Amino acid sequence: MPIRQLPETTVNRIAAGEVVERPASVAKELVENALDAGATRIEIATAGGGLSLLRVSDNGSGIPADELALAVQRHCTSKLEPHSALDDIQTLGFRGEALPSIGAVARLCVRSRQLGSSEGFEIRVDAGAVGTIAPAPANFGTVVEVRDLFFATPARLKFQKTERAEAQAITDAVRRIAVAFPHVRFTLSGPDRSTLDLLPQLDGETGRLARVSDALGREFAQNAVPLDAVREGVRLHGHVSLPSFGRANALQQFFFVNGRPVRDRQLASALRAAYSDRLARDRHPLCALFVEIDGRDVDVNVHPAKADVRFRDPGLVRGLIVGAVREALGRHSVQPAFAGGEALREAFRAPGHRPAAHPFDPARSPQSPLVFGGMAETAQARFVTEPSADARAPAEMPAPEGAALGAARAQVHDNYIIAQTDDALIIVDQHAAHERLVYEALKGAMDARALPSQMLLLPEIVDLPEDDAERLVAHSDALARFGLVLERFGPGGIAVRETPAMLGEIDAAQLVRDLADELADGAGLEAMRRHLDKVASVMACHGSVRSGRRLKPEEMNALLREMERVPGSGTCNHGRPTFVSLKLADIERLFGRR
Ligand code: ADP
Ligand code: MG
Repeated sequence: MPIRQLPETTVNRIAAGEVVERPASVAKELVENALDAGATRIEIATAGGGLSLLRVSDNGSGIPADELALAVQRHCTSKLEPHSALDDIQTLGFRGEALPSIGAVARLCVRSRQLGSSEGFEIRVDAGAVGTIAPAPANFGTVVEVRDLFFATPARLKFQKTERAEAQAITDAVRRIAVAFPHVRFTLSGPDRSTLDLLPQLDGETGRLARVSDALGREFAQNAVPLDAVREGVRLHGHVSLPSFGRANALQQFFFVNGRPVRDRQLASALRAAYSDRLARDRHPLCALFVEIDGRDVDVNVHPAKADVRFRDPGLVRGLIVGAVREALGRHSVQPAFAGGEALREAFRAPGHRPAAHPFDPARSPQSPLVFGGMAETAQARFVTEPSADARAPAEMPAPEGAALGAARAQVHDNYIIAQTDDALIIVDQHAAHERLVYEALKGAMDARALPSQMLLLPEIVDLPEDDAERLVAHSDALARFGLVLERFGPGGIAVRETPAMLGEIDAAQLVRDLADELADGAGLEAMRRHLDKVASVMACHGSVRSGRRLKPEEMNALLREMERVPGSGTCNHGRPTFVSLKLADIERLFGRR
């Protein structure tokens, strides 16, 4: 075949392959146009998962009648100056590709009435064939209607998922963008029951949190930590989840750069790094994070869907995220990691059971103690029948004024410290708490490069697979900073000469094997830092007070004071809470006193 210029419709269909992958991308493009037009009310209606109908109505500026024809023409946009260097884009759109792409693969109708204009007009595009402009009754603003999406590209149509899945994807896309525009009201309706009505909120942190709560769920908002930080002119603000509130996937991570929703590997990886020592490896944090950066320091012209960005200084943005998120999580460490009181009360209460009303009436009471369903029997067997065998009651030892974790009262099951504050009962998992504290101490010592070690009388020889031994030797300098001194001992052998003094008596062979596993992936400076954190984490686990050790009252109180002092001690290295707090009010409710 000879070389030929493709006709406009074919060009647009090809472009559509990238700009409109599925109904949700059409919804995203149309909503972005409405936002660029300054709309404060956006309504989205769908049918058939957006494939048979997708209509977006807004109260924005509208399109003048004499520009309607240009609006549906490729590379025509009102958002860029003719010779723009593309270095400071303030709008969501700028490529002039959405409407022509959609028009090439569907039946498109754009109806608009400019503010102050007495009449509305519409233009239709049917599989690339552009119609004439005709007057049409319309409210102020713009209505863009897309019917029979992909009917002109049967190949693409075949790749669509179920209507239900597409409807869900539209809902997700609207939610995502709505988080960045709290003052705009979004209404989504369709026969798919995927309806949404997000009321307008005030700008500012309160409004944002309210919108996050409406769009992403109240649970996230309740378990979120706010942050706001600036580094070298770049601002990061928004909310991240407490370490104890993770998800099995990363779908609930929302990043925005200058108000544009983006999916960016680097941002996600920075978030991951910020939680690296607080969250189990298979859990993912949630976030709604906004990066505000000079338009000239970020390139949004990376992909037609405009969801990718490139930063001029990726290291700066990464450092800002890691630093600010860690700082925020540290600040919230002495909060109970979850609403333990509520959960515990639920656990004690039989389904549908209403606690008996007080005052206590012996005449009406059953022979046996009050039973709150099956749970209570177990609890009773554990706690009540043999308290003397298992609980150690320390002497009355007051806690310092205002101590968040109060005074230790007892240790039960050789692992749980019961403490009391003015208005709550605190239960501490001593193993988890101690592990965290040792870990933080190790990290501190690592930064100070001064961790005392303890010489072994005889070096301990550990046999390992050769590549494990190799890796350990390669990292021996770093390990020495922790006070773990080892060297090669023949093929596949390692001699451990010194161990970190603060860990006390440990199983050096087991520690070395665990470390070899941890060192098994990655390289580079950043990876090294992560490795060191992991090393500290593995060591902490080895050196922690194992559950099962009885603690003296002074030891218990010392542990509590240490937890109050050390940031991040509210969760263990695996993201589990180290303590729960049961409010006195909840205990009273448990006994029907309130
Ligand atoms: P882009 O958004 O990249 O400019 P589009 O193809 O999405 O390209 O839209 C083309 C033009 O049509 C826009 O630049 C804008 O001027 C106009 N337009 C589209 N949708 C709307 C709308 N809802 N309200 C006002 N103007 C609109
Ligand atoms: Mg657009």
